[in-house]
Amino acid sequence: MSKSNDYYQILGVAKTASQEEIKKAYRKLAIKYHPDKNPGNKEAEEKFKELSQAYEILSDTGKRSQYDQFGHEAFSRSGARAGAGYEGFDFHDPSDIFREVFGGAGGSGFFDEIFGGSSGRRSGGHTDGSDLRFDLEIDFEEAVFGTDKKILIPRMETCADCKGNGCAPGSGRKTCPACGGRGQTSVSQGFFSLRQTCRNCGGSGQIIEKPCQKCHGQALVRTEKTLKIHIPPGVDTGSRLRVANEGEGGTKGGRQGDLYIIIHVRPHEIFKRDSQDVICELPIDFVTAALGGIVEAPTVTGKTKLKISEGTQNGAVLRLKGKGMPSLKGGQRGDQYVKIFVEIPTRLNNQQKDILHQFSEVSKGASSHPIIDSFISKAKKFFSGGES
Ligand SMILES: [Zn+2]
Ligand SMILES: [Zn+2]
Repeated sequence: MSKSNDYYQILGVAKTASQEEIKKAYRKLAIKYHPDKNPGNKEAEEKFKELSQAYEILSDTGKRSQYDQFGHEAFSRSGARAGAGYEGFDFHDPSDIFREVFGGAGGSGFFDEIFGGSSGRRSGGHTDGSDLRFDLEIDFEEAVFGTDKKILIPRMETCADCKGNGCAPGSGRKTCPACGGRGQTSVSQGFFSLRQTCRNCGGSGQIIEKPCQKCHGQALVRTEKTLKIHIPPGVDTGSRLRVANEGEGGTKGGRQGDLYIIIHVRPHEIFKRDSQDVICELPIDFVTAALGGIVEAPTVTGKTKLKISEGTQNGAVLRLKGKGMPSLKGGQRGDQYVKIFVEIPTRLNNQQKDILHQFSEVSKGASSHPIIDSFISKAKKFFSGGES
């Protein structure tokens, strides 16, 4: 322990030093006595603590003026003088002060990383297993009716031999000799001392005495698990099914992750999907479109009879209520929309042509083409425009 307990002397600055001078002095000394640079050196450790305490008081103008007036008693909880000096003071962890000075109070990501901020993994903690994603392609029909699928999931499972702690039976963990249990080592780079996650222990501060033979101390083993998955009716591309506790295994008692199955439905040749509705284009011949009739229309659950009214136009849309996709949430089924496509016949034979010529003849004067008639009258108006 240093004999001096005068904060100005500890930092080696005058009582009149500016804040900048105090900071400079602390930086220089803190780097010199930082425990990472002086492993196992008790004296350096004490010195580092003293420096941090001195700096904590003198860098705060309010605390500094109290200290100037009342000395150490200003910071003694009981008000009584506390022997050698530092007991009873409410100080921060010296390395926090160190980080503040070098990393700024807010602690940017960068400094947090090199000085090992809160993100660093510490010893003893369990790790939960990760969630897994599995992309599953199914047929349109399977989306309609639901299906059961067997899937093979490659994943890391908690090692059964060591129950996920990585140690051989009867053995345990010991403090990592490379980092002394801190989980970090430091490397000097010019002015800065950069801390890194300890490579020997991976940042946990502990190493396994005798690794489990099955998992080689990894606590997890790679496996492939076959799962039977029920796909409910009504799923769509992008539907996400959660299978609880079928993700990756945890370690040291951490929980197993979940498995998420992402559905991809293969496109269908005649059905298209719009949310819970199904759209199907149905070609009909022009005679049926003109005369009306009953046609057979496919739906996702089978064929159905569809009445075509007399004079149905190309592009007409007919609704088949409740013939769409089932609801995933147990609600009502969607509808099917049938979009009529009137096919104009091609490759007519002579007899067909004759009949159509006859049809054309007898149609003269009949008002069976209202759209054409209406268009012609509008066009006439346009060409005689200026006069009316
Ligand atoms: Zn094991
Ligand atoms: Zn280590």
